[in-house]
Amino acid sequence: MRAAVLETRGREGLKFRDIADPTPGPGDAVLRMHSVGLNRVDLYMRDSGVGITHSLPLIQGVEGAGVIEHAPAGSGLKVGQKAILFSNAFCGKCRYCLAGDQTLCTKADIQGEHRHGTLAEYFATPAYCVLPLSDDADLQGAGALMVGHLTAWRMLFGKARPLIAGETVLIVGIGGGVAVAALQLALMSGARVLVTSSSDDKIARAIAMGASGGVNYRTEKKVYEQVLALTGGEGVDMVIDSVGAASWGDSLRSLRRGGRLVTCGATSGSNPGADLQRMFIRQLEVYGSTGGSMDEFRQLLALFGRGGIKPVIDKVYPLAQVTDAFDRLSAGEQFGKVLVSIG
Ligand SMILES: [Zn+2]
Repeated sequence: MRAAVLETRGREGLKFRDIADPTPGPGDAVLRMHSVGLNRVDLYMRDSGVGITHSLPLIQGVEGAGVIEHAPAGSGLKVGQKAILFSNAFCGKCRYCLAGDQTLCTKADIQGEHRHGTLAEYFATPAYCVLPLSDDADLQGAGALMVGHLTAWRMLFGKARPLIAGETVLIVGIGGGVAVAALQLALMSGARVLVTSSSDDKIARAIAMGASGGVNYRTEKKVYEQVLALTGGEGVDMVIDSVGAASWGDSLRSLRRGGRLVTCGATSGSNPGADLQRMFIRQLEVYGSTGGSMDEFRQLLALFGRGGIKPVIDKVYPLAQVTDAFDRLSAGEQFGKVLVSIG
């Protein structure tokens, strides 16, 4: 089969080439892949991969959707069904899995990170990670749904006190997959949304989608002052931040007293000043979040299945042009998801 195979680190190490079809183990299903969304972690795996146990060559891709090609007996899956993947083949036995929070699994086994991923014509994974979709499901949207929307879902509703109607949330760095998903989901919840970006065009697009305002952090020296001005001097109830060091100070200063900051990434650096005095005096709540549980995924899929959410697709590339797709993501110019089409 054809696949995007990481042979050595870096841009030139990712090859579009032939590789043996996957051999499903007992309990594994096989999907004929249709669409695969790209994520920051794909760039991280391509260029570094430090801290993630794996070996090269590795087929990349951590999410995706397709059509079931092989279904193990007793799985309840049917050949020919459309399906979406849950990225983490969790163990189901550790204390965290038993408590229903697969994101904390001590034996996390994530496709495209710890094992072969989805940027291939065929993909094998435990059947419990394959969730059937309806016959009329949008496979392109499904391929771009899991990482961005599930991460955003947990950040908004699953981790801190859930965002509720009437509250105001600040989404840092609008344009990336998680940030755009958070914008969509926050608006659905009835919250007021403010965004930041280095691009006036991205802010304008967010406002066109329903955001109430935005701050350009490239042209405004003090982002938090603008945020306070947009909230009558009080600050926002929640900040969704995947940027890290570069935005951290403004994110903390943008919160109202008792507000909550949820972080899921550190693309600009991992060690900002903590500003502890501000955190305890103003009693701020800071949460780390990654991915989402199977139960949160089922909630998200129920919404997707009713047509309640549709991922914003920035650009679609054929698998043969996977390096161009990675370049698009690396440049940070996208608004929504960069998608690789396989089917
Ligand atoms: Zn586990």
